[in-house]
Amino acid sequence: MAKEEFIPKWIAWEVTGRCNLNCIHCRASSTMTSHDSDFSLAEAKQLIDDIAEIAKPVLVLSGGEPLLRKDLFEIAKYGTEKGFRMCIATNGVLVTDEVVGRMKESGIRICSLSLDGSAAAVHDDFRKQPGAFEATLRAAEIFNRNGMQFIVNSSFTKRNQHDIAATCKLAKSIGAHAWYMFMIVPTGRGEAIMSELISKEDYEEILEWHYRMEKQETEMLVRPTCAPHYYRVRREGPGLRPRGGLRLLRFFHHRSPPGAGGGIIRVHVILKE
Ligand code: SF4
Repeated sequence: MAKEEFIPKWIAWEVTGRCNLNCIHCRASSTMTSHDSDFSLAEAKQLIDDIAEIAKPVLVLSGGEPLLRKDLFEIAKYGTEKGFRMCIATNGVLVTDEVVGRMKESGIRICSLSLDGSAAAVHDDFRKQPGAFEATLRAAEIFNRNGMQFIVNSSFTKRNQHDIAATCKLAKSIGAHAWYMFMIVPTGRGEAIMSELISKEDYEEILEWHYRMEKQETEMLVRPTCAPHYYRVRREGPGLRPRGGLRLLRFFHHRSPPGAGGGIIRVHVILKE
């Protein structure tokens, strides 16, 4: 058994590289012609068994677009039976009442949806697909109608940072259980938009805005993701600049070698503050 402080609490598992969108920041550089997966259902079950020997974390089936993977619900059901808290991260395009029914049957507890702007012009420009914004709103309606809790994940660069507060407000109005603001880590297609990354001065202001917003938010959980320095803002309060002595989140990103099975896994180990 792993030492307690290093036991993973949350694992994101990229179960397919394929995706029906073409987002500018995609860390997996996903397209519809990307590799479907490099592991079988049997290997997926083996990986779940291996993880279960160490911990029973939240296991997020991600991608690519996980709903493109035909055996997704079999993987989800197996994880549920093994005692994991199973979740799906989707861009929302393929969500229907029937799909949510299958999610519930396989024990999915919560989904995350992508929303990168408060209007179609902003979101669709980011996702490089007209209609993606409407698809997210429609998916939220379907989740609400079927009693499936969902989180909204939002990513920002210079092109949509003006819309952060409005996106947060929209996430709340469509019934999100939580809103997670993602600070982009430029990997995959994100490496091509280095010049679009939010400046360090704006970044600091955004985290301070988030801190003030979080203190007033009573209904929706909120958290910046991939922004370990937010812990400094929370600890020292807004307006104070970095002075060292931080305790960072641990972040692992593992990609199996081609043909080795297992897909891509990201793990956050949240250390005590
Ligand atoms: S929806 Fe996700 S996986 Fe698909 S292209 Fe966008 S960021 Fe990549």
